[in-house]
Amino acid sequence: MANHQEPFDVLIVGQGASGYTAALYAARYQMRPVIFGAIFGGETATGGLIENYPGYLEIDGFDLMLKFREQAEKYEVPIISEDVVSAVQRDDCIEVTTNEGNVYTGASIILAVGRERRKLGLEHEDEWTGRGVSYCSTCDAPMHRGNAVGVVGGGDAAVKGAVLLSKYADKVYIIYRRDRFTRPEAANLRQLEARPNVETLFSTTVVELTGENGLSGVVLDRPYEGSAELALDGIFIEIGADPRVGLARQLGLELNGLDEIVVDQFGKTRVPGVFAAGDVTNASGELKQTITAAAQGAAAATSAYEYVSVHGNRCAVHAIGFEAA
Ligand SMILES: Cc1cc2nc3c(=O)[nH]c(=O)nc-3n(C[C@H](O)[C@H](O)[C@H](O)COP(=O)(O)OP(=O)(O)OC[C@H]3O[C@@H](n4cnc5c(N)ncnc54)[C@H](O)[C@@H]3O)c2cc1C
Repeated sequence: MANHQEPFDVLIVGQGASGYTAALYAARYQMRPVIFGAIFGGETATGGLIENYPGYLEIDGFDLMLKFREQAEKYEVPIISEDVVSAVQRDDCIEVTTNEGNVYTGASIILAVGRERRKLGLEHEDEWTGRGVSYCSTCDAPMHRGNAVGVVGGGDAAVKGAVLLSKYADKVYIIYRRDRFTRPEAANLRQLEARPNVETLFSTTVVELTGENGLSGVVLDRPYEGSAELALDGIFIEIGADPRVGLARQLGLELNGLDEIVVDQFGKTRVPGVFAAGDVTNASGELKQTITAAAQGAAAATSAYEYVSVHGNRCAVHAIGFEAA
């Protein structure tokens, strides 16, 4: 356990797209940022091929995140490969403790910790993510031209995902454990009904993912057209995601009904000196993508810069770029 006396201007929690972009912007504002995270790259790094990040016709998500990191490293942003387990605000100073028991302080903090995807909990689910198993229709639908795909779930995300997928795939099966839809918006259900190549298997659950080195089908808990086995080129698991709000709760932040951190368009929370960006926030509604996360990281860093410019770094001993107030 160590107490790292030298305080930072901004503590950035999360090594994903929003965290790295915040780090880049903060460093270019001549702040003294530090970025934390035991896992490199966030969801983008494990999301497989990215075809909708401007500037790249296509790029592997892991390679894209390596570029994010390279850019932060160019500005010598320290990267601490530890998770933050607690955060407290004392006077004008924020103190975080990592899973290794190390303590760091900063004048401001940006929470960029993303969301935890809900999973089916089936064998191969993690292993085949990006090889037939996906959690994001917006991201991966165009890869399924002419295919047969399944969508697991019955909420708005599942219905909207199925509508999008039906524009690429030949056949889309929605596999839903309940006997009817109750949660999707009426407009989305109307769109779904208008798609001739979508079929909904109600009261049905996926019990097994099948394939060799990637998904080639699923086993259902009740037969469809006489067989429990359904051949699929891809399966989209759209059963929700939980924002990681443990630190937000510790810092007393406001959460909305979806448990997302409430921020304004500049990444400000209701607590001065505390900012948030990316998928953990309500900032871009349902459109949670690498580009929106990155943009919010830039906005949050700008807000942190303005905050520290005005307030100074009151916990600073050697802060670079700001005089202790
Ligand atoms: C399978 C899949 C495919 C996708 N494909 C695309 C695509 O093609 N195009 C696209 O634009 N978007 C895609 N997305 C969405 C995109 O990946 C996310 O919107 C984006 O990664 C969100 O970035 P973020 O920084 O907000 O969060 P994340 O990427 O989730 O990063 C958050 C990071 O914070 C870390 N963390 C959490 N808690 C702590 C803590 N206490 N201390 C330190 N670190 C912590 C996490 O480990 C993680 O590394 C995809 C998502 C998935 C799941």
